[in-house]
Amino acid sequence: MPLLISRAISFLHLTRPLSTMALPRPTSVTSVTPKPRLRGVVFDMDGTLTVPAIDFQAMYRAVLGESEYVSIRSSNPSGIDILHHIESWSPDKRQVAYQVIADFERQGLDRLKIMPGASELCGLLDAMSIRRGLITRNVKAAVDIFHQRFGMSFYPALSREFRPYKPDPAPLLHICSAWEVQPDEVMMIGDSLKDDVACGKRAGAFTCLLDETGRYDAPEYANVEFQPDYTVSSLTEVYPLLESNFDLTP
Ligand SMILES: [Mg+2]
Repeated sequence: MPLLISRAISFLHLTRPLSTMALPRPTSVTSVTPKPRLRGVVFDMDGTLTVPAIDFQAMYRAVLGESEYVSIRSSNPSGIDILHHIESWSPDKRQVAYQVIADFERQGLDRLKIMPGASELCGLLDAMSIRRGLITRNVKAAVDIFHQRFGMSFYPALSREFRPYKPDPAPLLHICSAWEVQPDEVMMIGDSLKDDVACGKRAGAFTCLLDETGRYDAPEYANVEFQPDYTVSSLTEVYPLLESNFDLTP
C-alpha cells in the first residue's frame, strides 16, 4: 500500500471511531444470474393436454402378444416405443399392428377429456404472448378432434405424420424454426420420459415432466439417459414454476 494512503487510513482510524466512518458497502458475493427467456411452450397431447384415455399397456400387449410384450418391457425400463418397434416388421404384420393401434386410439377419442388446468395455463401463456405448440405421436385426425372439441389451438401442431416423430428432436426443432426462436427459449411439457423429455433434451430445450401419480419416482427411472429439468404433478403447477424460473416478458 502506498505510504501516503496508509498514513491517511491510520489517521482516520485514530481520529474517528469505526462506527461513524463511511465504510464501503459490502459487495455481494452472489451474482444475480438473469433468468432464461421463455418464448414458447410445446405440449404433448395424450396424457398432458388430455386426460389419459388410452390404455397404452393394453395396446402394447394387443400389438406385441403377451410374451413379446414382457420381453420388450423388461429390456426397455423407461417404456416401449411401439411405433419404432413395429417399423421393422413385414408390411402385412405392420398393417395389422397399425390397425390395432388405430382401434385403441379411436376408443380413446371417444373418452377424451381436457386435462385439469390446461385451459387456464394456455390463457396465462397467451396473456404473456408465449407461443404454444403441440407434438404428438397420435394421428392428425386426433389432433383435429382435440382442436375442435376444446376450442384452443396450438401452432404448429405436429402429429405422427411428421417424420421422424418423438423422441427424435426433429419435430421440436421444426417448431423452433417456425417460431424463429432458439430451442433454449422453449419448454417441452409432457407425461412421457422416453418421448417428451428425451425429445426436448435432445433438441436443447427445457423440459417439464407431468407425473400425476409419482410413477417416475420408481428406481427404474433413476438412471435413464434424459432427466427432466422440472417435474410437476399437475398442469396447475406449471405457470408458477415458469414465473419463478424464467423471464416471461414478451
Ligand atoms: Mg403423452
